[in-house]
Amino acid sequence: MPTISSTPVLYVYRCNACGHAGELRLLEQQEEITSACTSCGAEVVAEWDGGVEFTQAE
Ligand SMILES: [Zn+2]
Repeated sequence: MPTISSTPVLYVYRCNACGHAGELRLLEQQEEITSACTSCGAEVVAEWDGGVEFTQAE
C-alpha cells in the first residue's frame, strides 16, 4: 500500500481576476484549497492536481 502522508501534494489554480495560472505544494490533502493569487492577490481556489480520474477498461 502506498504511504502518502508526508508527500507534498500539488494543487493548481487559475485566477479569475487576472488569468494567472499557478500552483501550490502542500502537505495536506484536501479536495480544494483557498489561497491568494501570487500575481494579483485575489482569492483563488486551488484544486488537487493528483486527482486524475482514470477510466480503466480491461
Ligand atoms: Zn490573479
